[in-house]
Order: sequence, then structure tokens, then C-alpha cells
Amino acid sequence: MPLFSPRRYQQPYLPLRRDKPAVRAFTAFERTVKGVLFGCRMCGNCILQETAFVCPMTCPMGLRNGLCGGASPEHCAVDPTRPCTWYKIYARAERLGRLDRLLEINAPLDGKKVGHETWLDAVRLWRERDKGPHPIEFITDREKFSDDWDSFFRDLRQPDWWAGDDAYHAPAYTEPASALEASLKSGAFTVTAEIAPPLTASTKLLEKKVGLLKGVVTAANFTDNASASARMSSIASSKLCLDLGLEPVMQLQARDRSRVALESDAMGASGLGIRNILCLSGDHACFGPSPMCKPDQSDMDAVQVLWMLRRMRDEGVYLDGRAIKQRPEWFLGAAASPFGAPPKYEAIRAEKKVNAGAQFIQTQPIFDYERFTVWLEALDKRNLLDKVYILPGLIPLKSANAAHFMADDVPGVVVPQSVLDRMDAAGDDKEAQQEVGVAIALEIIEKLRATPGIAGMHIMAVHWEEIVPRLMEEASLPRPVSELEVQ
Ligand code: SF4
Repeated sequence: MPLFSPRRYQQPYLPLRRDKPAVRAFTAFERTVKGVLFGCRMCGNCILQETAFVCPMTCPMGLRNGLCGGASPEHCAVDPTRPCTWYKIYARAERLGRLDRLLEINAPLDGKKVGHETWLDAVRLWRERDKGPHPIEFITDREKFSDDWDSFFRDLRQPDWWAGDDAYHAPAYTEPASALEASLKSGAFTVTAEIAPPLTASTKLLEKKVGLLKGVVTAANFTDNASASARMSSIASSKLCLDLGLEPVMQLQARDRSRVALESDAMGASGLGIRNILCLSGDHACFGPSPMCKPDQSDMDAVQVLWMLRRMRDEGVYLDGRAIKQRPEWFLGAAASPFGAPPKYEAIRAEKKVNAGAQFIQTQPIFDYERFTVWLEALDKRNLLDKVYILPGLIPLKSANAAHFMADDVPGVVVPQSVLDRMDAAGDDKEAQQEVGVAIALEIIEKLRATPGIAGMHIMAVHWEEIVPRLMEEASLPRPVSELEVQ
């Protein structure tokens, strides 16, 4: 692996305001040097120190806190002609013995600094600080110099309005914020299910699906324009679901929303009584239908959204520092991809989400139980299993075609050949294929239920919601805690 990344994949940012000629000349110099060395885009908040000297802004999704669910060691999920930036970061950090430094939660960009130089910022900060690093100590006291060096760069990259760190922050409340949290806290095996919001303005289908799942699962997830395809909003669907008597999990994607919109929508959800929010980075717009919107649609990533919402809830402040008089009540969740990258890398990403504020994790669908347990062990090694509730994903396969589609076209999903063979062996009869799909799902449920560290399950039978009650019954999965309590 080369030491430098000399190719600039995307254009550098331009500044909003015009600096004095001397500063502009310096900015041009910095842009040229760092462009050649790192493919720098002049983000205005350099975190090269934390990312093993690979520029994270070469990631087309602009992810500053880890990889997406669709990358592979060979190529980027968005642009297959280039390697995944975050694979390079993980691999180089591992070689340099700096993997744990990737745990620090990096800030989103500050629009006012974007496009401007950062070297002069460093000089200004160094002159303001009286705590070094002092060059002479490089010779006289190497340890102090090294500590001061680290703290200097930390101050430089972590603005006061963000103050990201690498520590776990337990929620600052004790009473459960939602029935989902209450159920998980009680230790009951808790099941959630996914519903895709309607494509039309009619809510009839949504009402029918909620009716199917009410009293069967503890909460229903509403996807948020998944695969970059427009549908009814997750916030409207969640509110409709709530009014029908089933608790929603509102998915909130960073894609398509600025930090202002994210804060506003999450706050609105709390005001409407929606307590469970699953924070996602969101699929890149290129995975949606044409015509594609402009490519740079993400202001934040999932880790940053979690960090921001947790602080709004627990510290009562907006990102800009305004106080929140009545704090929102949220039970915050995140997604994880057990099969995306090597488990040791995925575990770092999961730890970062937990440290940022994730209280429950729903995963990509599990078809390969053995590989899933390797990921779970990696989380256990990082002591995460007593800090977060794990709800592995389950997709009952409706057809052999669906199984092959998942295996070939859905990033981050692994379908073993044995599963594909069983689906194919069912022949052309659709009902026979569905029965095999149900049998496979029941086998996976049985294994997952017996797995220590698992708090429940998340069933994603999108467009086949009617199968969920049958799966629950045949697998003898418990009914929601609230249902049992009222008996
Ligand atoms: S992190 Fe920002 S400033 Fe640093 S090299 Fe990358 S784009 Fe340039």
C-alpha cells in the first residue's frame, strides 16, 4: 500500500468568503501540497492524524467516522473504479498500531471553514496555547512532547461545539423512554418488524400492515426513503402507526438532510410522541432511481447524528449551543452490518456508534449464523454487549429469485450457497419456495434465540408482512411485554 494517496477523486471545496490575497495564496499552496500527498479536498477540519494519514473526504459519501455497509476491500460501493477509502484507513491504522484511535467521534464540517486553509489555523492555535507542544521538549522530555502533541491536534480537530471523544456515554435518564426500551430492559426477548411506508398518499395499506403486526411485535420500523427512493415520510408513517396503537421505530437518515433538518425532524418526532429513532447514514443517492439528485447530499453520518441527538437529549443543547428547555425523549438506535467488513473493523464501527449514543442495534439480515457469531464475539471483546441491545435482522425468503438477488445485489448481505441450493431445490412452485423460506427462517430464529448476547430480533418481511404472525407463532416467540402485562 502506498504511503500517500496522490489522486484527488473529487473536486476540492471552495470557500464561501474571499480571503486577503496573501491568505488566498497560502490556501492555494496548501491545496496543492495536500492535494498531491493526500487527495485533500480542503474540508477545513483536517483529521488526517486520526485516520492514519488517509484523507476521509475522498470517500464519496463524505463519511468521517467509518465505512458504509456496502464497501468491500476491493472497491468503493459508490464508485467501483476506486478502492474504499475506509478500508485503506483501517488497514493502515492497523499496520501502524493505531486502530483504537479510530474510535474518536469526528465532527461534521463547519461550512464557514470549508475551502479555507488549516495550516494557519494550526499556527494560530499553537501561539494561543501556552501548553505546547514546545519543540525543545522533543529533545528534553519526549513523553511530555508526545502528550502535548496529541492534545494540540485534538484541540485543533475537535471544535468546542462538537467536543467528540472516544468514551462511552451512558444515557442520562433511568425510566424507559418507550415500550421498546421497557421490553428490552425487562430482559424479554423482543421482536420488531419492518414496514415500508406507502408509495401513495393512501394510508390504507399501512393501516392494514400495522393491524397485522399490532399485538404481535413490540414495535414497527418505518424506513426513511430507503435505497434513495421517495415514499411517504417515516415521520408521517410513524405517527400514523402510533395513532393505530403500535409503537413505531422511526428511521432517520442523514442523507438528504442538513444538521438543521435532522435536529428539527427528531425534535418534531419527540413532540409527536415518537420515541424510538434509528439513526442511519443512508444509501448514497446513486442507488436510487434516475434522475439522481446532486451527489453531495450528506451533511452528517450516522455516528454524528447519534452524537448530536444524544447530546440534545442528555445535555439539553442544540448543536449550535442553544439550550433546550424541555428535553426530547428518545431511545436511540443504529444499524450494523455483521458481514460488511472484517468483524474487527465492524466492531470498531459498532463501538463508535454505541459511544455516540446507540442504545440498540438492528443488523442486516442473518443467513450465515456462523459468520454472525464471529461478529458478535468481536463486539463482546470490546465489552459492548452489556451497553447495547442487539436485534439481529431476519428476512424470510419469499422466493429463490429473492434469495439470489440478496446474494448478488444487496451490499453487506451474505447468503450461503447451502441456502441458495435449498431455495432452488424447491423448483418453480412459488408456494413450495415460500415454505422453504419459512423453514430456513425458523431455523435461524431458533439459533439466534439460543445465542447469548442477543436481546431479540428484527424481522424485515417487507411486502410479506402477513408472514410475521406465522413466524412468531411457529417459533414460539413471546408476545410484546405490554400485551402480556395487560392480561
Ligand atoms: S481531512 Fe480535510 S483538510 Fe485533511 S486532507 Fe482531508 S480534505 Fe484535506
